[in-house]
Amino acid sequence: MEEKGKINGVAAMAACYQGFDPAAYLQYNYTPPRADFERKDSIVPWKLACLHRAFTEGDVNGELLVDIGSGPTLYQVLSGCEVFNKVLLTDFLEVNRQELRGWLQGEGGCNLDWTPYLQHVCKLEGRRPSAWPEKAAKLREVITDIVPVDVHCPQPLALDALPSAGADCLVSCFCLESVSPDLAAFTRALGHIGRLLRPGGHLLLIGALGESYYFGGPGVKIPVVPLNEAQVCASLQESGYTLIRLEVYTLPQDMRVGVDDVTGVFFVKARKE
Ligand code: SAM
Repeated sequence: MEEKGKINGVAAMAACYQGFDPAAYLQYNYTPPRADFERKDSIVPWKLACLHRAFTEGDVNGELLVDIGSGPTLYQVLSGCEVFNKVLLTDFLEVNRQELRGWLQGEGGCNLDWTPYLQHVCKLEGRRPSAWPEKAAKLREVITDIVPVDVHCPQPLALDALPSAGADCLVSCFCLESVSPDLAAFTRALGHIGRLLRPGGHLLLIGALGESYYFGGPGVKIPVVPLNEAQVCASLQESGYTLIRLEVYTLPQDMRVGVDDVTGVFFVKARKE
């Protein structure tokens, strides 16, 4: 009975995602005011700064970085692509994998211009913003594939997607809490993705705090597990991670633009035990 409930909850989430619209999602979350590179208190520059710091502290690097639930976005691997030889992007939906393939193949027709993002991360790295084409080329060089993922499966990726040793690092942004029907499923998903990581490897996790829904497109209301910091820490511990750092961002009033009810964002750097 309990097992049936788990399957129903997960199936209901999967059904919600059938209406996900990459273009609308990018517009809602990855344009100003949420992505205003002139403002220090804008949400995207905050996320990029957290990722830049984590990937340049010296302890996070290696052969393979895997991004879990990439969606239609690339910002989360703009720093990591400099310290890993290979980057694997993953998403549950073909429409999102298609969006990422469009950028990778440079065909044009992408729903978002990533140039300001590339320029901003170049600046964080102490390079000229005009070096952005080199960063774009580097990213295209290291992305090895874009593959399906399901964090509710004990084995979230196809068996041959990773080397047997596992990944050296996982990054995952706004995925687990926005695809899980409840806190228990969120914690289980953390455990499932941990199986993709080698012991001692790092997890960089960004997610929403206090969020109960977001719009994945016009009229596509997707439920989210509302999390607080204590729950995030407890779930990490329960799933076999040691917390290194937790940072929290509180959304300024004008960043609450009606596309969700998020109140804050957490950034976690953790290590698999
Ligand atoms: N990482 C992106 C970001 O930072 O904006 C996208 C996050 S979006 C809120 C959640 C993503 O989770 C979507 O791209 C969706 O397709 C994906 N997703 C939905 N169900 C999933 C599942 N069962 N396993 C993994 N990812 C899933």
